[in-house]
Amino acid sequence: MERTLSLIKPDGVAKNIIGEVIKRFETAGIKVVAMKKLHLSQKQAEGFYAVHKERPFFKSLTEFMTSGPIVAMVLEGEDVIAKNRKLMGATNFKNAEEGTIRRDYATDIEKNVVHGSDAPETAAFEIAYFFSTMEIVG
Ligand code: GDP
Repeated sequence: MERTLSLIKPDGVAKNIIGEVIKRFETAGIKVVAMKKLHLSQKQAEGFYAVHKERPFFKSLTEFMTSGPIVAMVLEGEDVIAKNRKLMGATNFKNAEEGTIRRDYATDIEKNVVHGSDAPETAAFEIAYFFSTMEIVG
């Protein structure tokens, strides 16, 4: 069993597709073991995306991530890191496969609806960034 962090970004929440995203996870056999809606501060967004701080889009990305509420979830399942990344689709929705969340709902390389951890180490950091162990109920 593996765990990963999923975020529905401000554009996804604004599009009112929280349920649609969760439905795709559940249909794929993935379990939501923790969930909260929150509005990140600039500092919190910068901390979350610290690995990207040298990138030219860092300021724009962190401002976007604070532009409205998000939904944070811990997903659990076999091979869930890779499974979630497959359901999400490529970072740039134009390159994302048909039927993926980003292909269906993203409007921009930045406003791409969802975030998902990309490896076990990042998943551990990102889950702990949003949730205490008491908030994760398997
Ligand atoms: P992910 O793992 O698929 O989310 O992609 P990355 O870790 O490479 O990038 C993190 C996030 O930064 C992406 O999901 C996008 O929201 C944003 N992003 C990535 N590349 C670009 C870019 O070239 N321009 C802008 N404005 N945002 C980007």
